[in-house]
Amino acid sequence: MKKARRENTEPLMRKDITYIQGVQMEEAVEIVRHCSFRDEEMEVIERVLRSPEEFHQVYMDWIRYWHFERCLCELHAYTKKESFFYYGNCEVCNSPQPFIADYRFAEEENGVKKINWRERLVCPNCGCNSRQRYSIRQIFEDYDGEKQILLYEQNSEVFRKVQREIPSVQGFDYPGAGHQPGKINGVDVQDICALNYENESFDLIVANDAFEHVYDYEQAFKEAYRILKFGGKMIFTVPFDGNSMETSRRVEMDEMNVIYTTEKYYHGNPVPGLEKEPLLVYQIFGWDMIDTLRNCGFKDAYGKVYYGLKKAYMGYLPMYFEAVK
Ligand SMILES: [Zn+2]
Repeated sequence: MKKARRENTEPLMRKDITYIQGVQMEEAVEIVRHCSFRDEEMEVIERVLRSPEEFHQVYMDWIRYWHFERCLCELHAYTKKESFFYYGNCEVCNSPQPFIADYRFAEEENGVKKINWRERLVCPNCGCNSRQRYSIRQIFEDYDGEKQILLYEQNSEVFRKVQREIPSVQGFDYPGAGHQPGKINGVDVQDICALNYENESFDLIVANDAFEHVYDYEQAFKEAYRILKFGGKMIFTVPFDGNSMETSRRVEMDEMNVIYTTEKYYHGNPVPGLEKEPLLVYQIFGWDMIDTLRNCGFKDAYGKVYYGLKKAYMGYLPMYFEAVK
């Protein structure tokens, strides 16, 4: 007797690909989404994480979402088009929007280009991508009309959107080593290792992709701690390897020299006029960062992963961190 071959990966989605050839990509997304997930499974979910084991567990628990994302990438490859619309609700605009999914910042895996969901799914109305929309969501979620908020960014969509709703918000950009605090081309700049604020000035600090750009990140954490009020919270993102206990230095320094342990790796400089001075990434963080934050005085610190198909928060385990004073 011939045994039926059992596909152990996403059988429903494989079948759907044949069904939906000939329909628009946008319809195909809807069909696959509704065949694969119950309504409540498409709402925003969050999980607190503190270790590589918990990171791995959530990866396993959410594996159907990664299958779904891969399925969309494969379908999109069939269409041979550059982009498609993913329909969902924008929390910044508070309305349904056709989010733009395309191949910007895409990586390739087994010959299929993987859409960078976290950096794309751009709302055509507010211009914010998935990561930025989630960052704004967190700020407003926490806001009670009185809180003092500081963003480690100023020349950004996120800052402008927050400022429109909360005029008291403060912000600056980190221009990299070798610049004095002050103004550069109309943007306030500061050194995140020596901030120009009084102790205990803020209830909430939002630092997206900042701490990887200084060698002495512990000093930068201490500064954030210093200017936070007791009970205040910092939320931030950094390049992070959820499978690793240890932070890995990409750059080693002694008193006289900078030694690149791996290939040099940069992010764009946010300050206008400094486009030719990209910011060096000094380290990719691991779970020991939680201990470092505690050593700097924070009462608690943890990672949080989030996901939500209806509000178009997608990507491979998108994560941010919270540190409570
Ligand atoms: Zn929007």
